[in-house]
Amino acid sequence: MSGLIKEKGEKGRLHIDSGFKGESLVSKAFLEQTVKHEYFRMHPEINIVKIGGQSIIDRGKKAVFPILDALIEAKEKYKMILMTGGGTRARHVYEIGVDMGMPPGVLSKLGDKVSWQNAEMLSVLLAKHGGVKIGHGDNLEQLTMFCQQGYLPITYGIPPYGYFEHPAEIGSIPPHRTDCGAFLLAENIGARSLIYLKDEKGLYSQDPKKVKKTRELKFFDKISAQELMDLDLDDLIIERPILTLLQRAKSITEFQIIDALHHPDYILAALEGKHVGTIIYKE
Ligand code: ADP
Ligand code: MG
Repeated sequence: MSGLIKEKGEKGRLHIDSGFKGESLVSKAFLEQTVKHEYFRMHPEINIVKIGGQSIIDRGKKAVFPILDALIEAKEKYKMILMTGGGTRARHVYEIGVDMGMPPGVLSKLGDKVSWQNAEMLSVLLAKHGGVKIGHGDNLEQLTMFCQQGYLPITYGIPPYGYFEHPAEIGSIPPHRTDCGAFLLAENIGARSLIYLKDEKGLYSQDPKKVKKTRELKFFDKISAQELMDLDLDDLIIERPILTLLQRAKSITEFQIIDALHHPDYILAALEGKHVGTIIYKE
């Protein structure tokens, strides 16, 4: 039975009698007691599908329409939410902001509008198939219901840090952008899977677009987040903070990056659990 406890003396604090009473919530020994090996999963049947801004959406109709067709087909079998990247317009506004000395939190607020524009476009294109644009508020608790009703929810990928964005390890681009947003949502709703739709087969040792001799490229079909952090590659196909986040995650223990640009059919395959791109997993 818990009740109220008053510490002795005039300056005594008032507590509710519980295991957390009087804790700063900072002590490592205390935090160890809160470790759970599994989290409650709010939306265990929802798959998070993140559509790249630069890698897919900016390429226009030729790239986007076949992917939307694949998603419309997949929606009949799998519950999912689409999350959108930013892309070239976000890069443009970041460049102007960086030139003017804007901090990451301001740049994050500038970039989120672009990801939102992309969500808006997809919701227009998918409207007659149940596409519905949602924000980052309470309707994230209604995702399973939306899908059960036949809707295809769409939201923007940027996590809502805004002015609270963390300082970047290097430079001033906001470190948590739309890949991170998709990861964080997947972890916190206990999603069934997380799939990144991009324009390359998956992760290579270098950016394949910047390498002339393809024999210099090593492809990774599966790699742990820790191994990838140890490799310390100069460039990655997903945002770097995801690797640290994945090592700490409980619900999302792996995700897949696929080439949906050249292989829209890989979307259904990945939803079926097939290995068609690069899988990055928690060690
Ligand atoms: P999105 O719009 O999906 O966020 P980005 O353009 O931001 O896509 O990131 C994907 C791109 O990252 C790929 O198209 C590829 O050219 C590049 N890239 C950089 N490093 C790598 C790497 N190590 N392996 C594969 N692709 C890489
Ligand atoms: Mg990107």
